[in-house]
Amino acid sequence: MVLFPKEQSSAQALPELLAPAGSLEKLQVAVHYGADAVYLGGKQHSLRARAANFSEEDLRTGVAYAHANGVKVYATVNIFAHNDDLDGLVTSLRLLAQTGVDACIVADPGVIRLAREHAPDMPLHLSTQANVTNQESAVFWQEQGLARINLARELGLKEIEVIRTRVGCQLEVFVHGALCISYSGRCLLSTYFAGRDANQGDCAQPCRYSYALVEEKRPGQYFPIEEDERGAYIFNSRDLCLLAYLPKLVKAGVDSLKIEGRMKSVGYVGAVVHLYRQALQWIQTQAAAGAELTSLSLPQEFFQQLNAIGTRGHTENFFLGIPDASDMLHHSTRIAQTAVPVGIVRSNNPLTIETRHLLALGDELECLLPGRLQPLPARVTALTDEKGQALERANPNRLVRLSTEPVLKELAPHSLLRKKLY
Ligand code: SF4
Repeated sequence: MVLFPKEQSSAQALPELLAPAGSLEKLQVAVHYGADAVYLGGKQHSLRARAANFSEEDLRTGVAYAHANGVKVYATVNIFAHNDDLDGLVTSLRLLAQTGVDACIVADPGVIRLAREHAPDMPLHLSTQANVTNQESAVFWQEQGLARINLARELGLKEIEVIRTRVGCQLEVFVHGALCISYSGRCLLSTYFAGRDANQGDCAQPCRYSYALVEEKRPGQYFPIEEDERGAYIFNSRDLCLLAYLPKLVKAGVDSLKIEGRMKSVGYVGAVVHLYRQALQWIQTQAAAGAELTSLSLPQEFFQQLNAIGTRGHTENFFLGIPDASDMLHHSTRIAQTAVPVGIVRSNNPLTIETRHLLALGDELECLLPGRLQPLPARVTALTDEKGQALERANPNRLVRLSTEPVLKELAPHSLLRKKLY
């Protein structure tokens, strides 16, 4: 039975681009590069206990900044709570409602019940932690009044399309970022190896460790379980990337495309948001020119830009079928990067950046500009500290002024610079 059929025309509308904001700075950079919405966590009850997260003051500043730029803010309260975790939860929920966040992301039915009671006007989005993998489950959560469902990452395109026909509430799909070897965080590896509970937002990521075999009677002797001398990263999944399938997701009528990574660097967040915003704009232009979405393929230059962003390699995960060994990264914890984020613009008169990596005279830079896929190349020709003292090089986390060839006139605050490594 089709409960709330989605209007056919809305399947052609561009979905929201939803970015992670692990801190106020990341929120501002995500807004700068074109996010339609951001998600963030408070100091408690949010799955990412070791992200910087938001104090009450940062939360108010962040919501005001996002709303002033037409961007929505969703707050994560998606822990699976034990009784003790409920202490202070009502206060947190009321605070979120009072600061004007646009929705609360939840997973635990107990948390949902408290949110209903104490913040009744705040829309609720179901977290991927709730693992909605089928249409009946989606109907169930819609009947509970959830405004949006973030579908499990273990779904294929056809399953998403079927769920779309069964529910009228908003559907959100993860398109980019790290994957768990388990169902999205429902995993006890971290509890077992490190005493840190992934379901309380404190994962130590033991799925990224290198493993070996030990025979009981020879403790301390490690036998490789892969031929590769670098080790065996047996649980280490490649990162999700559905960039190539964005036209199909737009056609399927998905409402929101979510990027993972509240713990990722500001350089990563800005670059991924920039890339997906450019891709969506390209799709919109092609569709307006009459192109059929199902046969649309993004040009190669988008994937060249993708490769400049540090990752564990890419997989489409379950999107086209069941993943296999080729979707894992068994020989290493990461893929070598071709570029590193080197700084973030603080002002442009004179051009002043906060360094995030070693920066030296003569370095070849790439500047990411909103509205333009290809970064602007520039070479560092002069470097000074804030007092005008000439520098040969600058360490990370310093404010420096720089001159470049060509002169970079268009860089607004929050713009990102990266340095090519080879
Ligand atoms: S250990 Fe790995 S698979 Fe398990 S929750 Fe953490 S990131 Fe996910």
